[in-house]
Amino acid sequence: MSLTPNPCKAVFLDRDGVINREKGSYIFEPGEFDINAGVTEALRIFRDRGFILVVITNQSGIAQGIYTHAHVDKIHCILREQFKLQGIDFAEIYYCPHHPSTGKCLCRKPGSILIEKAIGRFGIDPSLSYMIGDRPRDIEAAERAGIKGILIDSNDSLMNYAGEII
Ligand SMILES: [Mg+2]
Ligand SMILES: [Zn+2]
Repeated sequence: MSLTPNPCKAVFLDRDGVINREKGSYIFEPGEFDINAGVTEALRIFRDRGFILVVITNQSGIAQGIYTHAHVDKIHCILREQFKLQGIDFAEIYYCPHHPSTGKCLCRKPGSILIEKAIGRFGIDPSLSYMIGDRPRDIEAAERAGIKGILIDSNDSLMNYAGEII
């Protein structure tokens, strides 16, 4: 029996506009958090193909004083619970709380630090992994980490892109 683990592969996901509906305003109340069509189906496909799922999201509303870490934690707790009921687990949900107006950070996308953190923690092979986002900065962050980015239209069904992830 080999003790060498299989290379881990991941689908990284942006949150707003990919998992839940982008509404053009900050989303920090559970009542505003609506899961987009096709997400559950697509995540099941990725899971069944052996990908772990990691969310990477910019939440600069924290630095701007619009909402708090507690709001984000609550939303992410509900997100995890809802998907758990569908048999889907997120390995981690990473968020950047910073905003350029309050100082420079490396974790805000297009920075790739949060992606690299996940790569190190879970032993992810970037060359086998993907990032799905609805902004060019999501794709830029992915490419900086050596991951293939898939740019989608905001709130479009992930099922329209599942075929690109093999
Ligand atoms: Mg987005
Ligand atoms: Zn940051």
